[in-house]
Amino acid sequence: MSEVSAVVVREQGAAPAIESVELPEPGSGQVRVRVRAAGVCHSDLSMVNGTLRPPYPLVLGHEAAGEVVAVGGDVTRAKAGDHVSLNWQPACRMCWFCTHGQPWLCATSSGIPAVENGATIQGVPAYVTLGLGAFAEEVLVPENAVIGVPEELDWASAALLGCAVLTGTGAVRNTARVAQGDSVLVIGLGGVGLSVVAAARAAGAEPVIAVDVSEAKKALAEAAGATDFVVASDGLAKEIRGRTSGRGADHAFECVGRAATIRAAWRATRRGGQVTVVGMGRADDNVELSALDIFSSARTLRSSVYGNSDPDRDIPVLARDVLSGTIGVDHLITDRIGLDEVPAAFDRMSRGEGARSVLIF
Ligand SMILES: [Zn+2]
Ligand SMILES: [Zn+2]
Repeated sequence: MSEVSAVVVREQGAAPAIESVELPEPGSGQVRVRVRAAGVCHSDLSMVNGTLRPPYPLVLGHEAAGEVVAVGGDVTRAKAGDHVSLNWQPACRMCWFCTHGQPWLCATSSGIPAVENGATIQGVPAYVTLGLGAFAEEVLVPENAVIGVPEELDWASAALLGCAVLTGTGAVRNTARVAQGDSVLVIGLGGVGLSVVAAARAAGAEPVIAVDVSEAKKALAEAAGATDFVVASDGLAKEIRGRTSGRGADHAFECVGRAATIRAAWRATRRGGQVTVVGMGRADDNVELSALDIFSSARTLRSSVYGNSDPDRDIPVLARDVLSGTIGVDHLITDRIGLDEVPAAFDRMSRGEGARSVLIF
C-alpha cells in the first residue's frame, strides 16, 4: 500500500481539499503511475457543482500523464519507467461498440463518472474520477488506461493529450472531418475549444472564427490560430454570415454545453452545414428547434464524445504532432499550479478566465 496526497471532494458543492489517500499495490492487470502533470478540466468542476452526480468521497482529476512506477501480474503494455498519458475511457475491445469501430462509446466505461478501485481514505472506500482520480501524487489504473508517449514530450503536453487535446482535435479530425478551406466557427474557448481552433487551422480551415463571452479570450484565440475573434452576442448569426460570404459557417463547434449556445451554433451555420456539440451540458437544459427548421435548413446536429477517438491510435499520433509543431499545446496552459490551488483554478474556470490550469508535481 502507498499513501499519497490527493484532491478530494466529500459531497456535492463541498470545497475540494487535500487528503491522504491509500492506494493498494497493483493487482493483476493494474499499473501504478506517479503523476507528473494533470490538467484541470471542466468535467472535474462538473463533478463538484451538480452538473454530474458522482458518488463521494471522490478523488478528482482525469487529464494526466506520468511515469509508471509499478505493475501488477499479467501486465504486458507497460513497465516501470515508461512515460504514459492516461486514458479515462479505455476500450474493452470486446463489446458491440468496440467491435464495430466505436471504442469511444465502449459499453463498459461510457457514462460512468467514478468507480471504486481499492483506494481508501482513512480506511473508507473512495471513488476515483473516470477511473483515474489523477489529482494525486500517484494513481492506480487498469493497464489499458495507460498509453506510452515519447520521453521527449513534456509532461504538461502529455497530460493535455489525454482529454482537452484529444477531445478538441478528434472533434475536428474524426467527427466533423473538417477539410481545407472550410469555414469554421468555434463557440467557447476553454482548453477544448482552443484545441478545436488549433486543429481546424492545422486542417487548413479558413476562416476559423473563435467566439467567447469575454474579450479577454482574444489573445488566446489568436495564439491558437483563430483568424477572427468575435464576442458572443444576440447578433452572432448575422455577424458570422457577414464573415462567410453571407452563407454561415460550414462547421460550428459548440464547446460550452448549453442549449443557448447549441442554438446559436445552429443558427450561425450555413444551409446544409454541420453542428458538432463538444461541450457536455445538463440533463434538464433542452434545445428547441422547429420541425420545419430541421428539415429546411438541412443541417446536421451531432455530438462528439471524447473526440470520437480511439486513444490507443490517436494519442501517439498527437504526441508526434506536438513534437513536430503541427499542433500547439503551450498556448492552452495559462496557469501552472500545485495541489492546493485546485479550488482557485475552479473559481477561474467558473468565471470563464484563462484556458488550462495544469498541476505540476
Ligand atoms: Zn476532461
Ligand atoms: Zn467496449
